[in-house]
Amino acid sequence: MNKIGIDLGGTKIEGILTDEKYQTIQRKRILTNQENGYNSILESIKKLIIELTHESNEKVSIGICTPGSLSFDSGLIKNSNTQCLIGKDIQNDLQNILNQNISVENDANCFALAEAQLGAGKKSNLVFGVIMGTGVGGGIIIDGKIHHGRTNIAGEWGHHCLHNEGNNCYCGNLGCVETYISGPALEKNWLKLSGITQTLPEIIQNKNNPNFVNWKKTFLNNFGLSMANVIDILDPDIIILGGGLSNIDFLYDEGKTSVYEKVFSDTVDTPIIKNELGDSAGVFGACLL
Ligand SMILES: [Zn+2]
Repeated sequence: MNKIGIDLGGTKIEGILTDEKYQTIQRKRILTNQENGYNSILESIKKLIIELTHESNEKVSIGICTPGSLSFDSGLIKNSNTQCLIGKDIQNDLQNILNQNISVENDANCFALAEAQLGAGKKSNLVFGVIMGTGVGGGIIIDGKIHHGRTNIAGEWGHHCLHNEGNNCYCGNLGCVETYISGPALEKNWLKLSGITQTLPEIIQNKNNPNFVNWKKTFLNNFGLSMANVIDILDPDIIILGGGLSNIDFLYDEGKTSVYEKVFSDTVDTPIIKNELGDSAGVFGACLL
């Protein structure tokens, strides 16, 4: 059976049609236009699916990768940066307008699944995939399958506590990873240290600025702590980084060293590597659901 994967992002919705071996047959991208509201997003997804299948009646499987996570109790979307999705039952609503069953999964789990089956983690049994960008999230893949956990929060790495009494997080807790090593958090810390407002790609060019040493040291320390906690508990075969921050080269040498220093073992050698699928992990992860 052919497969359709839809990656629902804040600015664009991307769709892919693949054969059963996940070879791309067709790919399309449209704007999300969140300002038009939830129903218009549902209609856009439906239209995209019709375009991808050329209105053929052949059966396809459909998976959707969404920002935010799905509530275990209600199945409703929570914590999404695409605000109009919050509190919506996108799975049910899409099933109704498409007249078929679909699968829905959050973006970090889709990323980890795609990399584990088709990307950098192909040879590994236990894969921990993280997205580090505007938000921070993680997904655990065991033997090619998403590990959801008892109440669907397994892999919610972005909201484990790094510093007791630390930064306020929108989730209501203090000191979450996301408040230290997401793009906006790192930019905020740079502003605090240097008085300069810059984007992350600009900040990492500041090697000669005296404040850069401190900024980087704090970043590496927090990255090291957050990853060492994962290795201590999960001991994955591989850690794969995705999102905008995965382009920061020093995470793979100095970052890795910082992680290893903090792990409770004298033989740590967990590979920490960059993703292979880039922006395509979302659509492929959705196909794989
Ligand atoms: Zn939090």
